[in-house]
Parts: sequence; structure tokens; C-alpha cells
Amino acid sequence: MPRPQSATTIFERACQLIPGGVNSPVRAARGVDAHPVIAARAKGSKVWDCSGAEYIDYIGSWGPALFGHAHREIVAAVRSAAKDGLSFGLLTDAEVELAEIITQIVPSVEMVRLVCSGTEATMSALRLARAATKRQKVLIFDGCYHGHGDAFLAGGGSGMATLGIPKGPGVTEGVVSDTIVVPYNDLDAVREAAKKYGKDLAAIFVEPIAGNMGLVPPDPGFLEGLREVCDSCGSLLVFDEVMTGFRVSRGGAQELLGVMPDLTTMGKIIGGGLPIAAYGGKKKIMMQVAPAGPVYQAGTLAGNPLATAAAIATLALLRDNDVYTKLEQRCSTLQDGLEQALKKSQVTGCVQRAGSMLTMFFHPGPVRNFADSADSDHKRFGAFWRGMCQKRILLPPSGYECWFVSTTHTNHDIHRTIKSAEEVLSRLVQGETYAEAHKA
Ligand code: PLP
Repeated sequence: MPRPQSATTIFERACQLIPGGVNSPVRAARGVDAHPVIAARAKGSKVWDCSGAEYIDYIGSWGPALFGHAHREIVAAVRSAAKDGLSFGLLTDAEVELAEIITQIVPSVEMVRLVCSGTEATMSALRLARAATKRQKVLIFDGCYHGHGDAFLAGGGSGMATLGIPKGPGVTEGVVSDTIVVPYNDLDAVREAAKKYGKDLAAIFVEPIAGNMGLVPPDPGFLEGLREVCDSCGSLLVFDEVMTGFRVSRGGAQELLGVMPDLTTMGKIIGGGLPIAAYGGKKKIMMQVAPAGPVYQAGTLAGNPLATAAAIATLALLRDNDVYTKLEQRCSTLQDGLEQALKKSQVTGCVQRAGSMLTMFFHPGPVRNFADSADSDHKRFGAFWRGMCQKRILLPPSGYECWFVSTTHTNHDIHRTIKSAEEVLSRLVQGETYAEAHKA
């Protein structure tokens, strides 16, 4: 039997073999000046690290774990599918069933294509939007993240903001010049850009509730305004619901907020933890995707039978009417508790929430865009994160991220989290006051 290794040893080995020691940048925990937690297993609302320590987890695999980790029915569906083969590269009945479920659940989606990651979904949706409009430019919002496709890296978003990475190395100037970036919640800037580039504007991509600069809701009228701009200049409105899809409500942000996009990208929750994502929308537009139409997009593992089985099992769990009531209750209790903890400790901060996604900003609030989010006290967030980690509460290791609550977070988990936050915040204040008093 191999001997268990310490987190430090594992991370040192990782750093020799994998860039930065991780397979996705934010996992490195550099944004909170810490070493990454090395996961060994997870179940429900808990994650265990390689030393066996148990944490209450709010990373939730960065969104997919709406029903907690390793949900019994999702695992059973994957096991059962695996017995029949791991991948065929052929159409299966299950893929059709999944397409039926998605088109029934997501209001604006009439036809859908399955892919393997959110990045693939957004890149494919952009290609389709460009082909459908015969235009090149795309408008995105500072602080929204749409995966690591070249066109979107002109923008930024959580990982790049966390690591202070400049926008665009490796992205050609041509690509950058086709991406227009404006502040979130700034309709005047959108209208201005539409006036300037309208005839060249293929699409506006937006996170309808932003989650990649921390949780930032759209101002009332913002999404409606985007719809109007797109309609008046003939551009497509694309909602990137990779994070909000199936989370803020069954039919995503579009159902919750009542604004319909032309195309939607989905990921994360859809596969309950397996790599599957999708893009879809109006049939007239989707029929342009190959082989129905000329817009090429393909994938060896697209519609993989294990991931498809996990997706069907996950989306079946959404039928339970109590899911969103339960999530709302748990996450609003968490929000209230954190707000009280900030107040008690007299730390400047605010807690922004949409359904079961939430961010505690060390900022007086409201946080309406990326500039506000960047203006938060991220150093203090780092200290808070480390304090919470010591108390075995695992938060996303960056102040630019959302915490995700699942149906498996118990009232006890939530209350322990609030109590820990109170203790960590008051210790932070005492520590800072002490340091201030003992300055040379
Ligand atoms: N779009 C949004 C809104 C996301 O939050 C993410 C990932 O965090 C992506 C796209 C990219 O998805 P993936 O990491 O599956 O490529």
C-alpha cells in the first residue's frame, strides 16, 4: 500500500509536473496566500483532505454540486451507464432524452448541442452567433467570465482577476480588437458601443447574474435594456448560464428574471460533477450548426454516456418542488448570519446573494461591477479565508468568487459557518487593532 503523503509533499510534486501545481488556476489558492487544500474525497456538504480532515464545503466543485457531493442517485446512474460502455462516438437514446429535458426546462432553448465544458459551449455559441449574423464583434462585460476562449480573454473575470493576470497574452491583436468590453450594469456604455459598432456587433454575451466577480446581480432593467439593444441592432443576446443555469431557478436566470436570450450556454450543474455542458437556443439559429448547417463544431466525447447519465439523473432531481425553497432558506439564513457577523465585529462588508450563490465582499456595498469588486479589501478576505479554513470551513479561495450552497448543507452546517465567521472576523479585528497599536 502506498504511504499517505502530506499536502506539502503532494503540492511540491505537483509543482514539478503541472504548471503552478494545479489543473485550473484558482485552485492554487494564491489569491488567499495559502497552499491549496488537497482533496481526497467528498460526500454531501463535506470534503475530506489528504490528511483526513473534514471541511464544510462551499466550493461545491465551483458550482456543479447543487445536490451535494456524490449524490447517491447520480452515482448510481453513472455506475449503471458504465456497465454498458464508457464511450461510443455514436448517437444514443439517452442524449435525445437529455435534449428533451433541457429544452423543456430552459424557457428559450428549443434545440441544444451537448459539449464537454462551459468553455466549449461559449466558444461554440460565439462562432454560431458570428456565422448567424455574418458579423465579427462581440460585446462582453468587465468581470464576467465566459471560459478561456481567446475572444473572451480580452475581458477578464475571476481567475485572471484573482491572480492579477494581464488580459490577453497569447491572444492575437485581431481577436482583441473584435472584443468590446464595457462595465457590468452600465447600459449607457452598451448603447454607446452599439452606436459605434452596431453593424459589426454579432452578439452581446452576459452572465445574467454575474458570479465571476463575486455575486453581482443585474440592476433592474439592465437585461431588458440589453434585449432592446440587441433587437434594435440585429445582434444576438447570449446568456451565459454556465453558473446560474439550474441554480438560481430550475430554468435558470432567464426564467427567474423573465428576459429571453437568443442563445444560452449551460454547464456545471448539468452534469452533477461530470464533464458535460451545452449550448442551445432558437431552432432557426441552432439549425445552422453542422451537420444541419455549415457552422462546424464537433467533439469526440460530446454526449459521453456517463456524463449524459449523470445529467439525466441530476436534472431529474430538480423535479422536487422543495429544492429551491430549501436552497433559498439555507442560503438566506447564511446571508443573514454573515451580515450580523460583519455588524457585530464592525468590519466593513456586504453580502450579496442570488438563490444559493453568495459572496461576502469586504466592501461597503453595493457591488455593482468589477471596479467595485476589485475595490474590496482582498487582503482581508485572504486572512478571513485562512481563519475559516483553520476552522474547517472551505470557502472558494478568492474574493472574486461565489460560495455555493447545496441541498445537503444542513442547518447545523450553516450555523457552524456563521459562528466560525463571527469568531474569525472578531479575531481579525483584534489582530489588526493589536498590529496598529504596536507599530514601530
Ligand atoms: N461561463 C461561466 C459563467 C463560468 O462561470 C465558467 C466557469 O467558471 C465558464 C463559462 C467556463 O466553464 P468551464 O470551466 O466548464 O470551461
